[in-house]
Amino acid sequence: MDSNLQIADLLAVRNPATGAVLAELPRSSEGEIRAAVQAARDAQPAWNGLGAAERARILRRFQKVLHARQSEVARLITEEAGKPCVEALLTEVLVVLDAAAFCAENAAVVLRPERVRHANPVMKAKTGRLLREPQGVIGIISPWNYPFSIPASETLAALATGNTVVLKPSEFTPLTSLLLRTLLLEAGVPEDALHVVVGEGPAGAALLTSHIDKLVFTGSVATGKRVAQAAAERLLPVVLELGGKDPMLVLEDSDVEIASSAAVWGAFVNAGQTCLSIERCYVHRSLYDRFAELCAEKAARLRVGNGLEPEIELGPLIHERQVRIVEEHVNDAIALGARLLTGGKRLAELGPNFYAPTVLAGVHHSMRIMREETFGPVLPIMAFDSEREAIALANDSEFGLSASVWTRDRLRGEAIAERLEAGTVMVNDAVTCFGISEAPHGGIKASGIGRTHGRIGLEEMVRTKYIASDLMPSVRKVWWYGYGAEFRRQMEGFVDFLFSNSLTRRLRGGLKSAGAIARKNKV
Ligand code: NAD
Repeated sequence: MDSNLQIADLLAVRNPATGAVLAELPRSSEGEIRAAVQAARDAQPAWNGLGAAERARILRRFQKVLHARQSEVARLITEEAGKPCVEALLTEVLVVLDAAAFCAENAAVVLRPERVRHANPVMKAKTGRLLREPQGVIGIISPWNYPFSIPASETLAALATGNTVVLKPSEFTPLTSLLLRTLLLEAGVPEDALHVVVGEGPAGAALLTSHIDKLVFTGSVATGKRVAQAAAERLLPVVLELGGKDPMLVLEDSDVEIASSAAVWGAFVNAGQTCLSIERCYVHRSLYDRFAELCAEKAARLRVGNGLEPEIELGPLIHERQVRIVEEHVNDAIALGARLLTGGKRLAELGPNFYAPTVLAGVHHSMRIMREETFGPVLPIMAFDSEREAIALANDSEFGLSASVWTRDRLRGEAIAERLEAGTVMVNDAVTCFGISEAPHGGIKASGIGRTHGRIGLEEMVRTKYIASDLMPSVRKVWWYGYGAEFRRQMEGFVDFLFSNSLTRRLRGGLKSAGAIARKNKV
């Protein structure tokens, strides 16, 4: 084969801190992706047939395997995605260890058939049973920012509920997903129950149009819209976990020391490349100057560099394109009057994709930094005068992923949380909700459709079937044919009995009337 052609068929995976090539992987062709889906489809009945208890045992084994290899996994995440190794451990490995336990414990509960009682006196003559069955093959398309915890938690939920999976990780971070598969196979997941396919957008598009039964997509709003359009063509059910512009509201009674530390961590964790990052900060005017000053001091002290070094607190951005977006947003804000308190520049001396942690004051909603997802190490801070104004500012966004409220009065914080347009609101914490296995994760508005994580995340992996079984199979149903004036009068009586005010009358008269009608209509 021509060697140039060979190189073009390989996907180079780079360390964003150094630019060094970590691996060159063959891209999956459309045919290979379809074959992977077919293999997963063929494997699904046997995997489902194992039962929830056996699958839970395998997930617990996976938990042990991952626990034993936590450092290796964290290191690979750092090499591929750039975040400090300890962050990889806490925000990825730990999250997945907990997700494995959650899925193992809860899948059987979600799958349990449910007896349903019918209230309508006529329908009481039928038993009702709700079954929850696996969807079949779940396609997962994931981003680079949490290359382990996002695909792993979705894969675990799918597998626990009896589905098989074809996963297409981000082209920037496929190695972590390949390692995830190795660990799951080591724990006892059959080879064909989980496939990982490699490639860029076209590989995702091929998965989308293959014979999968549901797609869980995590990524940007722009790609999410394209995915939703393609899914609509074939009425493929989708979960869309998209971008965010999460607000932080710091009320006048907040502890300014704590809240400023939280803002700095919430805005800069993973170099700001977190869907739940604090992207906009609103602070009561009485605290504003002190808060902004503390944030700038704390941000300026962060140690930036290669995440493999233990002291490093902030790694690189994933690639040059992401650095350019951050630069554009910061420059736009400064041109429109924002004050740069710290940062605002590339750190080229550290490597190709480093940007200094940046704090901006005096921002407003005409700036891109307050409206578009920045996805970088920038904390823009704006003052507010009243609770009402703070809520209006927070809700003035096309996004609705998460939000946080900071106050010494927890109940007041929770009352404000109820008025914020977001999928999750944290009171006196931020970002961490992703690590609560019980908490459903997902957004409203442009932030997405559906949920992952928690009981609702497991329910996304199953479809319902209702079985209604008649207890009087030899009795002709009163509503069957035989229409005419007399029949209509009888039916009016029938409707009256069902919806008259007195429940007793409904039940007594109803049964009599139903009996009379049934006798008349007897065949
Ligand atoms: P992206 O949309 O560029 O890519 C996401 C995935 O989609 C990648 O695997 C990519 O290869 C694939 N893809 C690209 N084009 C496709 C197509 N036409 N059809 C099918 N798949 C296609 O996003 P990204 O840059 O990898 O990730 C960053 C974005 O993800 C941010 O907007 C962030 O907020 C969002 N995100 C959201 C959540 C959440 O849970 N809501 C979590 C993490 C990241």
